[in-house]
Amino acid sequence: MIADNIGTVRQRMTRACLAMGRPVQSVTLLCVSKSADAAAVRKAHEAGECHFGENYAHEGLSKIDALADLRSRVTWHMIGPLQANKTRLVAENFDWVHTIERLKVAQRLSQQRPVRCGPLQVCLQVNISGEASKAGVAPGAVAELAHAVLGLPGLRLRGLMSVPQPTALLAAQRAPHRALRELLEDLNQQGMALDTLSMGMTADLEAAILEGATLVRVGTAIFGARPLPGLQLGRG
Ligand SMILES: *Cc1c(COP(=O)(O)O)cnc(C)c1O
Repeated sequence: MIADNIGTVRQRMTRACLAMGRPVQSVTLLCVSKSADAAAVRKAHEAGECHFGENYAHEGLSKIDALADLRSRVTWHMIGPLQANKTRLVAENFDWVHTIERLKVAQRLSQQRPVRCGPLQVCLQVNISGEASKAGVAPGAVAELAHAVLGLPGLRLRGLMSVPQPTALLAAQRAPHRALRELLEDLNQQGMALDTLSMGMTADLEAAILEGATLVRVGTAIFGARPLPGLQLGRG
């Protein structure tokens, strides 16, 4: 079931790449395993996947520990909001963080990153749709934060990440992804060498790939719908 789902997602990615004349390998599939248990992650790995994304530091760590035998073959990404009091756990156990939005958190991650692990790979999360309630740095403040993060020895700034407002039409889905790509191009014109656009989820991965995503974060289409909070299925 998980292997079939991955096959379907991979087909969607391939079609979008072909439509743009992009090599299929130019887009990484990040399997978002929040709500999936370690056994489900192992199945996805057996189906050939090696990038996994977690939203909560402690939940992620319990899966990293449960799958310790795969550690050298799996890349773990933190994609949820990161509180300052969780940075050590993340710096010591994850490979990537997609949700940098404050310099203070970036500085802590840099200080707490063990040297033996090499730099933590990071993206800045951008509030690309300008929603009042949304996480992420405002587009106009990205360049300043990027310059500051580039100076941190324990981090390697790779690019930008966003979670745009959901919308059903392809053209409307493409607009915020295009804006994020243009922001990345601006930074690279200022001399940065950023190579990662983390954008696109189950509902809009095609739109993201059409606009240049190098990494799509897909949960529901691989692991199934997440239960609603507070909804328990009765047993017996
Ligand atoms: C849950 C989540 C995803 C995956 O979303 P789906 O719609 O289930 O594919 C991607 N990115 C972030 C930041 C998420 O929290």
